[in-house]
Amino acid sequence: MGWIDAHCHLEDPGFEGEVEMVIRRAREAGVTGMINSAGNLEESRKAIETASKYEGVWATIGVHPDEINNFQFSMLSQLKNLTNHKKVVAIGETGLDFRADTTLEEKQMQIELFKFNIALVVEARLPIVVHCRNAFDDAFRVLSTKYKVLRGIQMHCWTGSWEWAEKFLGLGCYMGFGGMVTYRKNEELREVVRLMPEERLLLETDAPYLAPQAMRGSKNEPANLIEAAKTIAREREMSLDKLEKITTQNAVKLFRRMQI
Ligand SMILES: [Zn+2]
Repeated sequence: MGWIDAHCHLEDPGFEGEVEMVIRRAREAGVTGMINSAGNLEESRKAIETASKYEGVWATIGVHPDEINNFQFSMLSQLKNLTNHKKVVAIGETGLDFRADTTLEEKQMQIELFKFNIALVVEARLPIVVHCRNAFDDAFRVLSTKYKVLRGIQMHCWTGSWEWAEKFLGLGCYMGFGGMVTYRKNEELREVVRLMPEERLLLETDAPYLAPQAMRGSKNEPANLIEAAKTIAREREMSLDKLEKITTQNAVKLFRRMQI
């Protein structure tokens, strides 16, 4: 069956010239499926190119909250033209990222941009990949008015408490977990992993970011998915085989255009 990395960034400049090797190493590690997520228009085009070139690689296309200053309305119609591509399995990553220095105005702009991405999702009838950092309140507010018309939500790289997780699970969300569950100080996140209903659990690396504890500080890649999987299997007292099976089934269920 193989593992599926439900969120990675093969178009990140960190992987320039290495994508083929990175995919090969992933396959050798048993990671046979990769969801290559883009955060802007140019990356979205590249993600589709990569997905078209390699078996087992799919693309998600959208505009990340970090892109608010580069955003133009024309991007939405251009993205819309790409949504029918057979290797595009979702819209995203999009969402909200509130840092200590994010101004109120920037927060408003992020929320608007998030809503534009949601409108695109509704039209394309695809699932949505949501990035949410320090913005659970606002992300929940936006999604709770729309979740009934959405075709599946991936809360990627979940960092929230179990209280928040329960709320988002109530909207039908799937949650992605990766390298962060291996970090020594992340006991709260491991608790969420233990409590997660198995039918909503996804594994992801967010590579090249968030390398697992054993490789912390180095460039992460989809092959390292197994590191997080080992921690999650241990926390849930579940065999690696079973974890592989349920998380792969969940990914296929959420990203319906995926064929494995
Ligand atoms: Zn990401």
